[in-house]
Amino acid sequence: MRTAVMLFTRDLRVHDNPALAAACAADLVVPLYVDDPGRATSPARRRFLAESLADLRGALRGLGADLLVRRGDTVAEVMRVCEAHGAAGVSCADDFGRFESGLRERLRQACDAAGVLLLRTAGVTAVPPGAVLPSGGGDHYKVFTPYWRAWSRTRRRPVEPAPERIPTPDGVNGDDPFAVLDVPPEANARFPGGEGAAADRLDAWAPRAEDYTERSDDLAADATSRLSPYLAFGCLSPRALAADGRLPDAFVRQLCWRDFHYQVLAAFPGLADTAYRGDEDWAEDPGALDAWRRGETGIDIVDAGMRQLLAEGWMPGRARLICAAHLTKTLGLDWRRGEAWFAEHLVDYDEANNAGNWQWTAGTGNDTKPYRRFSHERQAARFDPDGAYRRRWLS
Ligand SMILES: Cc1cc2nc3c(=O)[nH]c(=O)nc-3n(C[C@H](O)[C@H](O)[C@H](O)COP(=O)(O)OP(=O)(O)OC[C@H]3O[C@@H](n4cnc5c(N)ncnc54)[C@H](O)[C@@H]3O)c2cc1C
Repeated sequence: MRTAVMLFTRDLRVHDNPALAAACAADLVVPLYVDDPGRATSPARRRFLAESLADLRGALRGLGADLLVRRGDTVAEVMRVCEAHGAAGVSCADDFGRFESGLRERLRQACDAAGVLLLRTAGVTAVPPGAVLPSGGGDHYKVFTPYWRAWSRTRRRPVEPAPERIPTPDGVNGDDPFAVLDVPPEANARFPGGEGAAADRLDAWAPRAEDYTERSDDLAADATSRLSPYLAFGCLSPRALAADGRLPDAFVRQLCWRDFHYQVLAAFPGLADTAYRGDEDWAEDPGALDAWRRGETGIDIVDAGMRQLLAEGWMPGRARLICAAHLTKTLGLDWRRGEAWFAEHLVDYDEANNAGNWQWTAGTGNDTKPYRRFSHERQAARFDPDGAYRRRWLS
């Protein structure tokens, strides 16, 4: 094929990017990112995205190419770029969920109508949804432990090196992502975006990773990787990360949880608004919901987590569990309210993992013990025994 469009989505990297590797089989490649208003965003995520695109653009320029950044409907923009450059193919990573599954179908139809070949590859997970299936039948695993066993044994695609060079047609003049994306000045900049920043974070954290098994739930220790925004935007390849020999099994198991929720979302695209199994009769209490959102419930461990979310756009997993359990199991409020609040504030927001974890905590999802109770006193005593985490966020 003479020319292919490489549509970057949530795979903002040049290393181990299967869609980019596939596009590079063409003679010429047009790298493109479309900022689609249909995709959920937030000020902090816009900043992270703009920084990641600027970093990607720099990497592509180093390989002889550039990056077009357009704003609008993805399908319309892709077809416009195909027409402008006479492209015969489009390559992109497969993605899942409410917006992405609709987009996939519309892009397929538009490509079919224009006689353009659409190539969809793996890339947003370590193991793609559908690659491991339960032996008893069904299109996904409903329970984590058997999935983890099958996931650990499955053969993986090879890790792709970055292309050596990306030949690009004349007239591909890249765009400044900050000019196109319009990043609000107040956007939280706690996490610097980009593949370069992801590699720096990983290299800085890897020597401490051996503590992960013991300390990942210790709230004050802040001993988890904080790699989640990089995984959510694909600045880091989950496939390559899962094979990084420096990281303990307990960490790789968390990456498997990430894939687990993706394979649930692929089979059940409505995960963010429809209960996966029977729903509860949730209470309505706008005052209690508002206090929870602002970190003013009066329960220290919950308030500390919720204030960290407002300040950093991020919380450790244990704090997310405690806050989500308080909203759903203690206050009896609808998990969708919490899911939406997290979606608005998390810099690492990811539909599969936000919705999957909210449903798990609420007992409407994939937990095998849906009626489990969380005592905030016990959680605080166990995971913040001397109160250092609470003091950090409440004083
Ligand atoms: C209510 C709730 C909402 C959540 N929403 C999100 C979300 O929107 N985006 C998101 O990426 N994660 C979400 N998580 C999962 C998890 O809390 C975060 O991925 C993790 O805290 C990120 O910090 P880290 O990178 O330091 O994690 P680490 O502990 O260092 O783990 C490494 C990676 O493994 C994955 N991972 C870890 N825990 C989980 C888990 N329970 N489920 C799925 N993947 C996991 C993440 O990609 C994470 O970056 C949510 C969890 C809960 C309980």
